[in-house]
Amino acid sequence: MNDPKFSDAGLTGGIAIVTGGSRGIGRAIVEILAAAGMEVIFTYRDNAAAAAEVISANPGKTISAEKVDVRDSAACAAFVEKIVERTGQVDLLVNNAGVIRDNLLAMLEDDDVKAVLDTNVTGTFNMTRAVAPHMISKRRGKIVNISSVSGEKGGRGQTNYAASKGAINAFTKALAVELAPRNIRVNAVAPGVIETEMSRPVRELAGDQVQAKILLKRIGRPEDIAHAVWFLSSKYADYITGQILHVDGGFKMD
Ligand code: NDP
Repeated sequence: MNDPKFSDAGLTGGIAIVTGGSRGIGRAIVEILAAAGMEVIFTYRDNAAAAAEVISANPGKTISAEKVDVRDSAACAAFVEKIVERTGQVDLLVNNAGVIRDNLLAMLEDDDVKAVLDTNVTGTFNMTRAVAPHMISKRRGKIVNISSVSGEKGGRGQTNYAASKGAINAFTKALAVELAPRNIRVNAVAPGVIETEMSRPVRELAGDQVQAKILLKRIGRPEDIAHAVWFLSSKYADYITGQILHVDGGFKMD
């Protein structure tokens, strides 16, 4: 049974791809889209056990997982081709996979810069380039990119990550211009600090200071972001494109 809370959104029967759906925010997005009646195919990088757990925790939902590294453009293209061969369409792409390697600029190793830009930026290009032609040929589709508050106001030690998310914001706006004539909406969600593995170090080191900067005085939950993605994916957001929706409890960066 699909969750009636989410089922009247025009998503039922649609095909969604979510990158990095095995854990954290991506997992919550997978679950809400499946609850809304979509078939969800998600990717992960390494953690097959976590991916299997998402599927077994959601009996009766149409969810499948595939190990696809978003940094590998050929793998992204082959993954999307296989889906389109079977289903004939992709209605929604959520570019969520991401990594963080915070450090002061002088301390960053080559790989700290490369891993973050390759995953967060090139990975988004790779999957979007694979999916967009199919949306264009159908003259419909939605793309939601997961950015970050750091994309506009990066903190100390975040030059690589902030640059990657600033690029996602710019990518979102430029692609919205390009694809609007094809009836495709492109938006982003910019989370604040959300309770996942990724934010664990910062929450453990400076949880109280982080919380003090949040107007709503709590760390976000993955569902807070998933709700925004559901909205931007739904028919209720048909008149929205090129936007960066901040979901951060009112995060004050200073
Ligand atoms: P997690 O570290 O909890 O999960 C990351 C997910 O991305 C995992 O499913 C992981 O797969 C997957 N992934 C990582 N690299 C690749 C890759 N190269 N190819 C395919 N999949 C990959 O992260 P979050 O859930 O916290 O973050 C999700 C998104 O939200 C990211 O884009 C992040 O930048 C953004 N964000 C997060 C915030 C937070 O506070 N948590 C704040 C602002 C933005 P596997 O399980 O196999 O490792």
